[in-house]
Amino acid sequence: MIYSVFRLAVMLVVLVPFNSLFAQPGVRSGTNDQQHVNYFMQIDFNAAENKFNGYQKAIYTNNSSDTLQNIFYHLFYNAFQQGSAMEERAKHMKDQEGGIIQKFQTLKADQIGYHQIDSLKVSGKRQRFTTDGTIMKIILDNAITPKSETTIEIWFKSQVPKMIIRGGRDNSEQVAFTMTQWYPKIAAYDRAGWHTEEYIRREFFGPFSDFDVSIKLDKRYCLAATGVLQNGEEIGYGYAMKKPNKIRDNEKYLTWRFKAKDVHDFAWGADTGYTHTKREMKNGVQLNFFYKPSTATTEDWNDLPGQVEDIFKWMENKVGPYPYPQYSLVQGGSGGTEYPMLTMILGKRPESKGISKGYPIITLAIHEIMHNWFYAVVANDENRNAWLDEGFALFFQDEYTDAIAKDKGEPRAIQASYDYILPPARKGALEPMTTPADFFDANWGYSGVVYHKGAIFLNQLRYITGEASFWKGIKAYYSKWSFAHPDGDDFILCMEQASGMQLKWYLDLWTKSTRNIDYAVGTPEKRGQETMIPLLQNGLMPMPLDVLIELKDGTKLNYTVPQASMYGAKNEKDVKVAKPWSWTNPQYNLTIPVEYDRIKKIEIDPAKCLFDLVLSNNSITL
Ligand SMILES: [Zn+2]
Repeated sequence: MIYSVFRLAVMLVVLVPFNSLFAQPGVRSGTNDQQHVNYFMQIDFNAAENKFNGYQKAIYTNNSSDTLQNIFYHLFYNAFQQGSAMEERAKHMKDQEGGIIQKFQTLKADQIGYHQIDSLKVSGKRQRFTTDGTIMKIILDNAITPKSETTIEIWFKSQVPKMIIRGGRDNSEQVAFTMTQWYPKIAAYDRAGWHTEEYIRREFFGPFSDFDVSIKLDKRYCLAATGVLQNGEEIGYGYAMKKPNKIRDNEKYLTWRFKAKDVHDFAWGADTGYTHTKREMKNGVQLNFFYKPSTATTEDWNDLPGQVEDIFKWMENKVGPYPYPQYSLVQGGSGGTEYPMLTMILGKRPESKGISKGYPIITLAIHEIMHNWFYAVVANDENRNAWLDEGFALFFQDEYTDAIAKDKGEPRAIQASYDYILPPARKGALEPMTTPADFFDANWGYSGVVYHKGAIFLNQLRYITGEASFWKGIKAYYSKWSFAHPDGDDFILCMEQASGMQLKWYLDLWTKSTRNIDYAVGTPEKRGQETMIPLLQNGLMPMPLDVLIELKDGTKLNYTVPQASMYGAKNEKDVKVAKPWSWTNPQYNLTIPVEYDRIKKIEIDPAKCLFDLVLSNNSITL
């Protein structure tokens, strides 16, 4: 989500011509057993006072088989106040960020954020509700029965907070309004019940919805939003095919109406200085770019349309079609944050953060763009399974970075993830990947585990299943779980079906425990015409093992030793499949039909895919 937490060796990005061989398969349109919301919103925005009045009508469809006694809403803006859980947490994180604490401490009354609910009706009748921090609970007079529709109306007043993190007004690059997590939003309800996480720091989860949002705002502001503008001809600002009519000269305000279908959030940004450029892809998807022109931005933002189109084509080929009519990359926010059909990203090259300092905007944008596939379309619970979108986005960021790298001799981009978490893993300082997002002890631990260990999860999975099965499984997962909310089991089942292997052991041990991998080569023994090579499992995390044997005459022999729990093995060219190894036995003897004296070197995991804590025992030279 927030890119600034990354400490990645990002490569320079060069636009490479790309021939897409991709033919669009159909994308499944939602499952009918998950909740759905139709949001209709009218926003009367006072830009001078950073406030707005809102009316929201939500038609909520309870597709579950449960009877609901309450409805929960997120009121995210309430986090941006002194004494909020967000402020408390910032103070007590192990690696607290002084900047955030200081911003909270200096907030004045007209700089805090809030949602004030003036009135609330359900099915036309006023209802009781309680508000606790960022969570509102509606106590229903009449429970919502299974497979029924309920209309909720809310009249509210909100104040846009001065930017602390992610959303708000007047960000560090003087973008006026970053409108993210900005409206009363119905919480997710699924087979685990209501998801009512307080807004503390990170990650979101919501039901797929349709939005119809009208925003009345001072006409000097240009808007970028999730969805498609319905009245572009009236608005202008680069949306119109022809010049807008005279209305803009006579009126003080414009009302912008956006519609979006099958998205689980709606974000927008506004500034009086935005330049809006666009590019239409061959498949009809319109790419939009909104930025404030300056010597620090214009050059990069002129290059972005071609670069973003290249990423879209690459992802459509690798994963599946982008199903929405438009995508907007918008200068705003406090780093880089993904929203459906829209990314907020700082518009200038980073000046100080990490080793991405000074790199063009596209290096920061690649990660966020990958979230269109894993977050926007395939929408896992980002609180309980943050690795399913962040680990995936980072893995695809790395794969794309490698694909366009000029110098093919460079280390693979994902190597940075191994390097980042190897030292803390050796100290036993990592928490499990399935720790709920806000509960991580430290920010570095969150990024290390959710992003980096998450990306390594996929890299190792590819090593287990083999290349072809891996990509088949990724495509199947995307196709099956588009517009739905999968978890780790749903993903691994797709990979099991694609590979014909059993893989739940890998999911469970890698994501739910902190077990580590350490394999070693023992001392080989002469066995007549044969050689016995002992392989040792020193770590608690079992994995299949690739073994490379180099002979003195230069011949290379490749073996793979599958885990017995896989009930299968990868099928790769010139790789012999040895008999399976059960994790219950810490030693395995690989006997090969080669005389001892002919062997020069034995190496395990020669491709270095395993997150092996001790590399010094991975090879032996005879
Ligand atoms: Zn991300």
